[in-house]
Amino acid sequence: MRVAVVSDIHSNLVALQAVLEDAASVDSVWCLGDTVGYGPEPEACVRTLRQRPHVAVAGNHDWAAVGKVGTEDFNPVAAAALHWTIGRLSPEAKEYLELLPQRRVEGAFTLVHGSPRDPIWEYLLSARAAATNFDYFSTPYCLVGHTHVPSYFLLRDGRVEARYAEADYELHLAAPARFILNPGSVGQPRDDNPLSSYLLLDTEQRTATSRRVAYDNAATQREMAQHGLPSPLIERLASGW
Ligand code: ZN
Repeated sequence: MRVAVVSDIHSNLVALQAVLEDAASVDSVWCLGDTVGYGPEPEACVRTLRQRPHVAVAGNHDWAAVGKVGTEDFNPVAAAALHWTIGRLSPEAKEYLELLPQRRVEGAFTLVHGSPRDPIWEYLLSARAAATNFDYFSTPYCLVGHTHVPSYFLLRDGRVEARYAEADYELHLAAPARFILNPGSVGQPRDDNPLSSYLLLDTEQRTATSRRVAYDNAATQREMAQHGLPSPLIERLASGW
């Protein structure tokens, strides 16, 4: 099966459409959470995802948008965007977000938003944190998002190696090594590269291929400005930081 692994869409519909077009031949989409928050099209992003064969897990912004966590747990800019988001979501979209699980297992892959130890909140940004987290899932591979930085962690012979924001790569997920893979962010990349980021998986061939996709970020920025969303969130889309 060929899968597009996406995360942190963050209500950026233009970016999501560009990624789905790039991944047009896949059999399924696996979404690692934070479909909403920050951006201008929360409802349309939920709807677009639901129109495709997909599975998804919950992110911290998804939970905040349905009141499962408080917006006081976010920085003021994120909280302002969440208050706006809450008022834009239909009851159907809220119910969908509300029912997302924290963790799913799809074949050899465990899917979470943050980390297998703390699926909603933990940022996996170091080899040290990753090393502990290999004990918190039993499948060979784990897929995480949340940091908005494309990266992977490889456990081999008791040692963990970390790779961040690699230029294009294709990995062979060869046993007995275990992997934690982060596809980066579709809607708000934070690795100094404004292009949307996602991962193509071939579950039979056991390959993972990183992808970067250009989209019209000025269109998303214009829409955010029209809605009065915070300017730091608008500006960062151009720089990818
Ligand atoms: Zn996020």
